[in-house]
Amino acid sequence: MKKLFIIGLMLFTYVYSSGQEQQKTPLPPVPAGPDKMTPGMTEIWNPEVKVIQPGATDRDAPSDAIILFDGTDINKEWMGMDGKPSIWAVKDGALISTKGSGYIKTKRVFNDFQLHIEWKTPTEVNGNSQGRGNSGVYLQELYEVQVLDSYDNRTYRNGQAGSIYKQYPPLVNASKKPGEWQIYDIIYTAPRFSNDSLIYFTPPRVTVLHNGVLVQNNVSLRGPTQYIGIPEYTIKKHGPLGILLQDHGNPVGYRNIWIREL
Ligand code: MG
Repeated sequence: MKKLFIIGLMLFTYVYSSGQEQQKTPLPPVPAGPDKMTPGMTEIWNPEVKVIQPGATDRDAPSDAIILFDGTDINKEWMGMDGKPSIWAVKDGALISTKGSGYIKTKRVFNDFQLHIEWKTPTEVNGNSQGRGNSGVYLQELYEVQVLDSYDNRTYRNGQAGSIYKQYPPLVNASKKPGEWQIYDIIYTAPRFSNDSLIYFTPPRVTVLHNGVLVQNNVSLRGPTQYIGIPEYTIKKHGPLGILLQDHGNPVGYRNIWIREL
C-alpha cells in the first residue's frame, strides 16, 4: 500500500511539473485568420475588367464579337473546304446548305470561343431519323454538334439535335418545329497538348444551350467525331482551327452567326 502511494505521488509530481513547463513555453504567433482580415484584403481592383457593349438582346452580337455571317456575303468569312469560294446559296438572309456542294468553313481559325448560331430545318418534312434536316456545326473542324430535325423524329439519342455526335446525347430535347428558327449558343474550350504524349493532355470541353436550354454541360470530348468507330485521341496535335458547317444533303439554313474569342 505504501509502495502504491509513493508511485502515485511520483506520477502526480511529474504530470504537475509537465503542466508547469508547458505554461512557460511561449505560444506560436496566431496566423491571420478571417477574424483578423479586413474586407479590402480580398478585393482585386487592377487591371480593370474590359468593358464591352452587350447586344440589345441575347441574339445580338456584343461589341467584341466577330460577325461570321450577317445575312449578306457568304464569302467574306466562309469558303469551301478546298479554299475556293463556297457555292452554298444565300436566300432571305440565310445560308442554305446545298446538296452536293460540300462543307464550308471559316477563313479564320479559333481556339477557345463562344459561338452563337441560328439554324432552321426545312418546313416540308422529308425523310426520318438521320435523313431529316441533317447538318452540323463542327468546332475546330473536328467535333460535331449535331443539327437535325429532332421534333417528333426518333433517332439514336447521341445523334439527335443538341448531341455531340456519337459521344453525348443532349440532356433534353429542346427542339422547335420544322421550319422554325432555332439557336445554339456554344462555349468551347480547345484541347491542350503539351508534348508528344497524352500524359499532359487536356481534352476539349463543350457547353451547348439549345434555344436557351442547357443540353451539354461542359462535357469532355473523347476525340474527333467519328461516323464509324470509337472516337479517341491519338498524339496528333492540333492548333487553332475553323468552324465548319456540314452539307448532309438537306437544305438546312443558318443565320446570325457570331463568335467571341475567349
Ligand atoms: Mg450532322
